This record gives sequence, structure tokens and C-alpha cells, in this order.
Amino acid sequence: MNKEIRTEQIPPTPIRYQDYEQYWQGLEAGKPVLQKCGDCGAWCHVPQPICPKCLSLNKKWEAISGKGTVYSWVVYHQSPDPEFPAPYAVILVELEEGMRFVGNLIDVHPDDIKVGMTVEVFVEELSEEFKRLNFKKGKS
Ligand SMILES: [Zn+2]
Repeated sequence: MNKEIRTEQIPPTPIRYQDYEQYWQGLEAGKPVLQKCGDCGAWCHVPQPICPKCLSLNKKWEAISGKGTVYSWVVYHQSPDPEFPAPYAVILVELEEGMRFVGNLIDVHPDDIKVGMTVEVFVEELSEEFKRLNFKKGKS
């Protein structure tokens, strides 16, 4: 791949949809938040206009504990992009609040990842404009 003709932003950045704006603002403030139903209290991830449990339109955003465990993972041995050197793992984390969230485990070699491993959320700053929620090894 010829990087001189590449025009997209690196790393690829997501589109900031209006319905997710509070999520992005939480990351910018260093306080990850996720959507919660304002009536029944169910967590709604991914963000959505209607609560999947009680069909309420009343939604709010709340800070998460930042604690979770590895539910599953996959290791990429060939990278689709030179900006993501292989091997790297994509993990599925079950947050303490019960939702599952996809991310990377940045401080653990893919061979050392285990189901049930304790992880913690952190806000990773990839550029001045782009921060994302990601994971590091937690305290057991
Ligand atoms: Zn609800």
C-alpha cells in the first residue's frame, strides 16, 4: 500500500452521530458514560432511542464503574492495516453493569488473555480530536 496517496485519517475515526454525542463528550471529559433508561434503569448499549426492556423514550447517560471481565476474545495474526500491527487481540468485555463492550486489551500479550480476566476501562487518546474507550489489565 502506498501511504503517499492515502487520504483518510489515521487511525480511522468513527462518525459522531447525534444520538451518541454524550458518549463522546464523556470520553473527552475522561469519564466514560453509557446510556441508561430513565424509567426502568436498564442499561442500553448500544445507544438507542427506545429502551429494549420497557420501551420508554426517557433515556439518560450515567458513568460506568470501569470494571469488567473478559467474556471472549479473538486474536488477529494478520493485520488488515499497517497501523494495527499483528498479533493483536480484540476482546469482548462484560462490564460490571452487565453490558458487553468490544475493545482491545493494550497491556497484555494476546497469548496471556483468559476468560474471566479482570480488566479496567480507560480513555485512550489517539489524537487531539479522537479518544476511545479501551481496556487494560485490572486488579484481581
Ligand atoms: Zn426501560
